[in-house]
Amino acid sequence: MGKLRDYVWPLVREELDEFYEVLLRCYKCRYCHYVFAPDCRDERFVSICPSGDRWRFDAYYASGKMELARGLVEGKLMWSDNLSHILYTCTTCGACHVWGEFIGRCYPLFIIERLRKGYVENVGPLPQHKALRDNIMKHGNPYCVNSTHYSMLLEDLRGVSARAETMYFVGCTTAYKRHEIASATIDLLKKLGVDFGVLRSEKCCGSLLARLGLVDEGAKLLEENINALKEAGAKRVVFSCPECLKMFNDADRYGLKKPDFEFLHVTQLLEEKASRLRFELNNLDNPPKAAYHDSCYLGRHLLIFESPRNLVKSIEGVEYVEFLRNRRNAWCCGAGGGVAYTYPEFASWVAQKRLEEAKYIGVNVLATACPHCKDNLLKASKDFNIEVYDIVELLSKALKREGGR
Ligand code: SF4
Ligand code: SF4
Repeated sequence: MGKLRDYVWPLVREELDEFYEVLLRCYKCRYCHYVFAPDCRDERFVSICPSGDRWRFDAYYASGKMELARGLVEGKLMWSDNLSHILYTCTTCGACHVWGEFIGRCYPLFIIERLRKGYVENVGPLPQHKALRDNIMKHGNPYCVNSTHYSMLLEDLRGVSARAETMYFVGCTTAYKRHEIASATIDLLKKLGVDFGVLRSEKCCGSLLARLGLVDEGAKLLEENINALKEAGAKRVVFSCPECLKMFNDADRYGLKKPDFEFLHVTQLLEEKASRLRFELNNLDNPPKAAYHDSCYLGRHLLIFESPRNLVKSIEGVEYVEFLRNRRNAWCCGAGGGVAYTYPEFASWVAQKRLEEAKYIGVNVLATACPHCKDNLLKASKDFNIEVYDIVELLSKALKREGGR
């Protein structure tokens, strides 16, 4: 008779060898390499795994990583720094995981994350990840900004309390790298009359470190943020960054008690209010023909697919077009899983593939709902004549008046 934990898959499995029976289930169907067959629209856009599509060796797809994990558990393969390129070029986009869950045989993302943790435990973090960890633990964010005074946001935060039942968790990439998203969000929340606060002691949520296998450090940051939000009286927390939202949502995976807050992505909060509002966009350089790029973390990881695209569709003057690869089949922007930090050229290659698809469907505006997606797509967009905005920026430009159409 097996123990209860043997039957409660997959939440209670933590060590690589506990996944062994699942590793044996991989029968190399290769479904994890492509979009769902019924959803294929064009043979040029059927790949779904960025690292596999770039290096074209099985090891770079989920199917190969299952074999690497099996080799490690069986002692036929040793942990070594040769593994690092395979493990850290995965964008943790989760496209393979969607297939694995669908066919009910494998859960590649859990295994990839456990492999990265194992890599840190057995070989140690990569040099660039050590530096990143040191910066985050010292400054509270990877951009070496002193988070205690939140200097880049001081102007935006004028009149915004540090305590409220609805707290806006800005996130360090939104605050410091794509500051325009933070400004537009705070501006829009103020205009909509949302009674909200922002922590002045907010730190990195810990997601980046956890994705890199530095799980204890990521959990420590998460715990500090949860405690600060509790002290601020939070009952509801709104996020710009899907990676932050996912990190809070998964608190129990990091050995923490999941807080009692309601968690929302900002597009969910705005969708609630959009029916009372009128958005009209007529101040861009060209008439906007826009597609929504699904963030992997917001979409596949958190299953929030419709709120962001409903918001884009609600803007008058915007012609909405759907990507061929959308929702569960979406192609990653290339920034996730720490790839933008570790392998920026590869991150740019992945973004260019998305922009080629955007060009193919004929859009001139990409709407995003994640600061990492916006940053990576924007950097790669120069040669494509495509403008990239976070949805909140578009809404902020387009808001006409409250009180019905
Ligand atoms: S990892 Fe899963 S989807 Fe991919 S080849 Fe193996 S069984 Fe098939
Ligand atoms: S998470 Fe994404 S990049 Fe990583 S193996 Fe799966 S499909 Fe490929």
